[in-house]
Amino acid sequence: MDTVKKLLQAVRERIDNAALLAHRQPREITLLAVSKTTLAPRIRDLAVLGQRDFGENYVQEALDKMPHLLDLPLVWHFIGPIQRNKTALIAKNFDWVHSVHRLVIAQRLSAARTEQQGKLNVCIQVNISQEPKKNGVAPSDLAQLVADILPLPNLHLRGLMAIPRATHDTGEQHAQFAALRLCLQTLNDHQLDTLSMGMSADLETAIAEGATIIRVGSALFGARTGTQQAQCNVTEPGYFTN
Ligand SMILES: *Cc1c(COP(=O)(O)O)cnc(C)c1O
Repeated sequence: MDTVKKLLQAVRERIDNAALLAHRQPREITLLAVSKTTLAPRIRDLAVLGQRDFGENYVQEALDKMPHLLDLPLVWHFIGPIQRNKTALIAKNFDWVHSVHRLVIAQRLSAARTEQQGKLNVCIQVNISQEPKKNGVAPSDLAQLVADILPLPNLHLRGLMAIPRATHDTGEQHAQFAALRLCLQTLNDHQLDTLSMGMSADLETAIAEGATIIRVGSALFGARTGTQQAQCNVTEPGYFTN
């Protein structure tokens, strides 16, 4: 428990310092704790310290944990690749989805969301570094996808998400995050308010470039084992075919 507290405090301090440098208020920035591969008791430890937002990449893994945490006021974000046949489970069990990048996925999420639940918050994932194998809509196709998603009745389009190409070059980090911010600015007549960008290694740069949600895993929960890196690629079987 002590370690969890220290790690959370360290991340909060990083957010505060980055916000200060960028002349922003720390409360403008939501810390999303990425809890993939983390078990429910550790999520509870963090929640007890006041952490509310949690992000998961795998539907079944998330559904296994959620029943153990129902007494807590948590906000669940789905941030992984979305298979068509999982859209109903995602729409029913999550509050946010960051990884929408095709219209058919958005349509299915909207259709599966019940009115009583209220609208599902969604971000469109943009392939900001234009990497061939990475998920996300190309920046040139973004405006059309936004126009198609806005009318869907049970979705609330909030903004954009990106997982830029990993690099230690802070100049390149800045350029990639700034590119996502510019994408949002070109859509600003739709009142989109969310930029989901920045992870454990680059959250300061993301905050400097306007991130409103940073997605932090290893800095809060410790390093994951090899196969559980950020889910950039289309790796789940049936992703295109289901
Ligand atoms: C795993 C993951 C993160 C967190 O990555 P860390 O480097 O552990 O902070 C953020 N976003 C997505 C989409 C992820 O899959």
